Amino acid sequence: MRVYLKFFFLMLSLPGLAMAAQNIEVKSLRYWTAPDHTRLVFDVSNKPEHKVFLLENPHRLVIDLSQASLKTVFKQPGRKHPVFTGIRSASRHKNDLRIVVDLKASVNPKSMTLKPNNKYGHRLVVDLYQQAKNAATGLVAKTSVKKTVQQKARDIVVAIDAGHGGEDPGALGKRGTREKDVVFSIAKKLAKMIDKQPGMKAVMVRKGDYYIKLRERINIARKAKADLFVSIHADAFKKRNVKGASVFTLSRKGASSEAARWLAAKENNADLVGGVSLDEMDDTLASVLLDLSQTASKEASREVAGKVLKHFKSIGHLHNDAVQKAGFAVLKSPDIPSILVETAFISNPDEEAKLRNAKHQQKMAAAIFKGVLGYFKEYAPADTLLASIYKKQTKHIITRGETLSGIAVLYGVSMKSIKSANALVSNTIRIGQVLKIPLDG
Ligand SMILES: [Zn+2]
Repeated sequence: MRVYLKFFFLMLSLPGLAMAAQNIEVKSLRYWTAPDHTRLVFDVSNKPEHKVFLLENPHRLVIDLSQASLKTVFKQPGRKHPVFTGIRSASRHKNDLRIVVDLKASVNPKSMTLKPNNKYGHRLVVDLYQQAKNAATGLVAKTSVKKTVQQKARDIVVAIDAGHGGEDPGALGKRGTREKDVVFSIAKKLAKMIDKQPGMKAVMVRKGDYYIKLRERINIARKAKADLFVSIHADAFKKRNVKGASVFTLSRKGASSEAARWLAAKENNADLVGGVSLDEMDDTLASVLLDLSQTASKEASREVAGKVLKHFKSIGHLHNDAVQKAGFAVLKSPDIPSILVETAFISNPDEEAKLRNAKHQQKMAAAIFKGVLGYFKEYAPADTLLASIYKKQTKHIITRGETLSGIAVLYGVSMKSIKSANALVSNTIRIGQVLKIPLDG
């Protein structure tokens, strides 16, 4: 157990280790304001790993520094400063630093690091370019604001995992329908819908008829920086009259029903069918990872699953009215909310016919899409385009390493307003907790 724990922490800190072995000190800040931009210069102890992005409502610029700490007090701008009204900071994930610049209006930010010269040491330079004001038309400014949002705010990535593939056909229908084929068709239709939605992007985990082992499917989603993992299946049961859709999330402590347990065992066997057996040690490690960091994504998984299930109800029979839980290996991603959709029972003759029908495949894809979009309309991460489209983004799921003060800084609201909106009596928050964020707080 101890060994695995150590390995886990090593894995977590690897990206930081590779790029910045030592803690970066932000020692001072200087800034200058030119007619078209303001330049912020942070004196830092070494070249920092950093990320700069914009948030809206109100306009803010966020500078995230890995493995960094603040060793100065920021000098605040005067009231009449044309670009920004204040600059704040909070620590994140224990060792990282987040700096938030409160802006008067949106800017085009540019950042770079500079090597020491005879006057200064390492520096991080962030230029805040004011956007063109064109009083005559007003149009130019508007266009450029829109452009910036599209450039800076990222797309939400949905990893779509069509079950089985290649030498693993999955479940078989009486008429010879293969699960791997019908779920691939549904997955492609879903991907098309997601790609059409501004602010969302689909990544197909398998792009054709070949097998990918279950853990590799998770890795593909992680490499694509997926915000959500959706695994699509259509299963069989020994009784032909069994029918309807189910939506599953991961359970480590046993399945919610006998049938769910049976199904999970069957899906997990895919690796044996696909030609690769599950690795025992990997499983132990996975369970440690789950213990430590899955609470937040479990909460999110339940939310998405509930919404997808609701939309399936409107197009047909549900096998289970509630979100089901079982130990599906493919859902064992510690950091990505993951759901598994059993679209229908291929063993039921009516449903086998539906699964082969392109129109019905489209309906099933649409049910998943509506559930997923509905979820992200409420929970779009702050740095995404979708969050800026659906401005009423007022909920936040606590993830590892976050603090109440950090969240207040992130959204530019007071801690007091968050506490009162959520009836919190202390500053204690827990991973997976959902907080309402009053954007005007
Ligand atoms: Zn399956």
